Amino acid sequence: MSLSLFSNYRLRQLEALLEISRALTARLDLPSLLRTILQYTAEMVQAEVGYIALTTPAGTLRLATGYGLPSQVFHALAPYLAQKNPEQDFWNETELRRQLSIIREASDAPLEQVVALPLVLEGEATVGGIFLFRPGSVAFSAGDRGMLRDFADQAAIAVRNARQMELLRAEKARVEAVIENSPNGVLILDTDLRVAAINRVLSELAGVTQAEARGQPCTEVLRLQNLSGDHICQRGQAPPPTGILYGEGDIVRPGHKRITVGVTYSPLFDRNGALINIIATLTDITRFREAEELKSTFISVISHELKTPVSLIKGYASTLAREDALLSPETVREGARVIEEESDRLNELINNLLDASRIQAGAMHLEMETLSLVDLARATVERLQPQTPDHTFALDFAQALPPVRGDERRLRQVFENLLTNAVKYSPQGGVIRLGGWQEGGEVVIYVADRGIGIPYEEQEAVFERFYRVDSGLRRSTQGAGLGLFLVKAIVEAHGGRVWVRSQPDQGSTFFVALPQMGA
Ligand code: ADP
Repeated sequence: MSLSLFSNYRLRQLEALLEISRALTARLDLPSLLRTILQYTAEMVQAEVGYIALTTPAGTLRLATGYGLPSQVFHALAPYLAQKNPEQDFWNETELRRQLSIIREASDAPLEQVVALPLVLEGEATVGGIFLFRPGSVAFSAGDRGMLRDFADQAAIAVRNARQMELLRAEKARVEAVIENSPNGVLILDTDLRVAAINRVLSELAGVTQAEARGQPCTEVLRLQNLSGDHICQRGQAPPPTGILYGEGDIVRPGHKRITVGVTYSPLFDRNGALINIIATLTDITRFREAEELKSTFISVISHELKTPVSLIKGYASTLAREDALLSPETVREGARVIEEESDRLNELINNLLDASRIQAGAMHLEMETLSLVDLARATVERLQPQTPDHTFALDFAQALPPVRGDERRLRQVFENLLTNAVKYSPQGGVIRLGGWQEGGEVVIYVADRGIGIPYEEQEAVFERFYRVDSGLRRSTQGAGLGLFLVKAIVEAHGGRVWVRSQPDQGSTFFVALPQMGA
């Protein structure tokens, strides 16, 4: 080879290598990169057929790209390579001759020479190999092999980069899937406290779509109220956190239930210690909060409700027990009456508490029989009327009502609770109407008073445990906020419904609908 020819050859080789490095940095996808490498290599050593095979996760070889390789050769080679392990003694002359004969058989090409080089990066496993074939009697020279080495190195780098990229992509997809499907809300903020990413749960909680939220200031997306603890979004110009912060707040959206969340903010730093993201994780702690509130309401209501009768009983009992006092028979009777009344009240409170806890445990037992609600209503009114001279009960059943299946004792409790509430919350006295009708397979009973009424926004809550509307009357009337809770639970256990219609200062009407028999 003349000098000029040689340098021309070297020049072409360098150009080819340069071209390949450009393709490498342009991050072409792996198949097209391997194709480019193979094409240049084959041209440089005047090979007619060639291929690159890559190591599979199972440790065997798989054809990745071919040059001048007819498809029938492709098919003939694949099963052979699928049995080969590139880490073992696979590069020897015998193996290469075997490949040559497979290719010759499948293609009828007069190929005579073969050269192969493993794709290895220093200290790493073999990632595959380049295989080239040409006709004629001139064997591949040491120079060919040397050059092939350069190309094989490039190919090995490309494969490694692509594999790392694939790993990164898989890792990213995994992390994204974890964030997206997390049962907690996740928000990733950039250093300006703008939303870089938001997961599905949080976008639903906050009422914004993921696309709307992206790029928005954190304060816009996470409008928390009743804050406590440290809230990064509300911090203004305060320096970014270096440790984990925790805060709590309510997500309040019109038409939605208030949701209390606990938010953990943790900073993410790069290798040089510069802040790159703040990751906020939100946990719905509404139930926990409600349970806590319920517990403290329970304690305050119960202690208040217990205190009054117990101190009355104690007061009257100690008066009656005094040996030095001469008590008139009326005083003794009055004392005994108060003690009895207050003991009844205590007894009722305890029963209500027991009922409430039974209901919560899902253990309310009903003794079903066939009943007339009109008879039950009449009996309850007759029993209660003498106790409240300021109120008049008026029965208003225009039509005969069909019987229902129900537990008499429990349904009496429903009427009693509704009627005593109507009395308690009509401090001016007046008429309390009790009536009903039949409609769509149900018997509907109502209790209507002209008392203080219930503000619209609290009409649903009055059926909750321990819930009492905050009014002046609340402080002066006794009650643990259990009556309506029990009413609702009993009615629902009968397959019925209960609801209220009320206007403050105008009065309230409570409705109970029970399925009529045979409906
Ligand atoms: P309690 O009467 O022991 O407080 P309830 O569960 O029976 O408990 O009632 C819950 C709350 O609903 C009451 O505290 C009261 O504020 C309101 N409420 C119930 N019935 C009436 C009514 N007829 N009129 C006005 N408010 C009522």
